[in-house]
Amino acid sequence: MQDDAPLRRPLPALDDTNRFFWTSGADGRLRMLRCSACQTYVHPPRPTCPTCHHADLEPHEVSGRATVVGWTINHHQWHPAFEPPYNIAVVALDDDPSLRLTTNLILTDPDDIELGLAVEVQFLECDDVWLPLFRPIPHGEAG
Ligand code: ZN
Repeated sequence: MQDDAPLRRPLPALDDTNRFFWTSGADGRLRMLRCSACQTYVHPPRPTCPTCHHADLEPHEVSGRATVVGWTINHHQWHPAFEPPYNIAVVALDDDPSLRLTTNLILTDPDDIELGLAVEVQFLECDDVWLPLFRPIPHGEAG
C-alpha cells in the first residue's frame, strides 16, 4: 500500500443472500429483507424467515429513517481507517423498531448524540458496497 492511499474500512463479504443489502444504496434507498408470507422483516439477511420458516423473502424498500437506541465513543484507534474519537451506534428503524442496525453516525461533535435522536440513512460508497451510515435529521424535518 502506498503512503498516500486512502485508508480503507473493512468491508463485508457479499454473497447471494446479503448482496441486495450492501448494494441497496446505489440508488440511495435502504432495503430490508421481508417475508412474503408473514410480512416480518428479517435482518441480518438469511435464506428463511425465523418467524414462519417460509423461504420467500424479498428486499423491501424502507424509509431510511431511524432512532438512536444506543452508542459508544471510541477513543482508541483500533483500525487505521477509524480516526478517534469515533462513534459506533445502534439505530432502530422507524419502519419496524425491532429492526436494528449497528452503524456510524455522521456528525462532527460526539456530544450531539443522544438517546432518541432522529436520524436518516446516508450511504458511504466503498468499492461495490454502499455502507448505510446515519446522520441527524435537521430540526423541522423530523416526523
Ligand atoms: Zn415469515
